[in-house]
Amino acid sequence: MSVLAALRRELGEDRVGSSPGLDGRVFPRSGEELATALRLLAAGEASAIVRGSGSWDALGHPMPRARILLETTGLLGEVEVDAEDGVAHLPAGALVFSLSEHVRKETGGAWELPFDPVSPSSTLGGCLATASPGFCFGHPRDVVLGLEIVLATGERVRCGGRVVKNVTGYDLAKLYLGSLGTLGVIEAAWIRLLPAPEKTGCWWVPAADPSLAVEPARLPSARAAAWLSAGLARELSKPGPGMLLELAGDAAAVAADAEHLVCQNGATASDPTGLGVVRGMRGGDPGGRVRVSARPSQLAESVAGLSRAGAEILAHPARGLFWAFSADEAVFAAAERAGEGFLVEAAPLAIRESRELFGENPELRPLQAAIKAQYDPAGILNPGRFAGRI
Ligand SMILES: Cc1cc2nc3c(=O)[nH]c(=O)nc-3n(C[C@H](O)[C@H](O)[C@H](O)COP(=O)(O)OP(=O)(O)OC[C@H]3O[C@@H](n4cnc5c(N)ncnc54)[C@H](O)[C@@H]3O)c2cc1C
Repeated sequence: MSVLAALRRELGEDRVGSSPGLDGRVFPRSGEELATALRLLAAGEASAIVRGSGSWDALGHPMPRARILLETTGLLGEVEVDAEDGVAHLPAGALVFSLSEHVRKETGGAWELPFDPVSPSSTLGGCLATASPGFCFGHPRDVVLGLEIVLATGERVRCGGRVVKNVTGYDLAKLYLGSLGTLGVIEAAWIRLLPAPEKTGCWWVPAADPSLAVEPARLPSARAAAWLSAGLARELSKPGPGMLLELAGDAAAVAADAEHLVCQNGATASDPTGLGVVRGMRGGDPGGRVRVSARPSQLAESVAGLSRAGAEILAHPARGLFWAFSADEAVFAAAERAGEGFLVEAAPLAIRESRELFGENPELRPLQAAIKAQYDPAGILNPGRFAGRI
């Protein structure tokens, strides 16, 4: 019996459909159904593209071996918000925007869900599997307490849990964060919520190069910080390079930092909707975009070199991250040499097919391949997508 026929028989006709360019599509609605689907895919050696809302379909290497689309947006199980302890149990298929709204309502505005996704259609599972740091809330790894995972064999496992001190031995949840769905499918997560700030405000800080933005971006109440080269600054109607900075915290701390920004850095108050514009710059398909990690001391030189090569630049100065926008292979190659870590986030298909998108890192490859072989022996989850095309 074909894999699609087996999926229809076990899950029902309405859980299986067609998908252009692939053999078909499966749409599990619960952890049990997801486990059944993966067991059948593994038995039939049918590999799958795991997809939330698909906002990052172009991330990673193309996957010519994939035959089935495995959609996670039906994984909408139990939502539990504990306003006493500031933790929540959330299903992976739900949209982050709706979950954020739900958390705000359930806690009377006292807590926030610490994700700021690039797209209104982003699912929680997609945010965790890509584990890309946001402009406001930092790295997802810092707020994930536990994960419920369905492995490629169909086995359901848990790592971590609802409390902060729950890990003895290896913290396996970290393994799945950022693995782009190549080691298991996330069914649900326990997330640590953050207290909502008493006051927020946005400021524009003129700065000719991103190293000048490091000090203000490290102010105690600085929450979101984005330095923009002149071309990107124009999208916020700003005249030259500079930084959009969000202050958030208790009212006295925000007022003190705002005064410092005005007096020391020549800052002016700015429209907070600019933050949404900046977040959107990292979404969609800009033609080409590469993310580089650099030490703050390397920022000015690296950014100047890439600007000379014609790239527009967005930087998170305090985190030592920047993005070069270009579809030019020469800029990607220069970016790879410019910092200490490298990821092509978007590129024309010819580049995605021909170059290593995650940076050359030969010493890591055997370890990554061994982990993939252990967790997904039949190679059915996003085959070829990750670093080294594993
Ligand atoms: C360049 C970049 C910048 C980003 N910036 C931010 C940011 O500022 N703030 C922030 O919070 N997030 C950020 N993210 C995360 C981003 O918001 C999410 O990656 C994306 O929007 C997830 O939504 P999606 O459902 O469309 O995922 P998809 O595009 O469908 O999937 C993304 C990846 O996750 C895998 N995946 C999806 N669901 C699951 C699941 N349940 N289990 C296992 N794997 C799964 C897919 O296989 C794929 O590899 C960024 C991501 C990238 C790549």
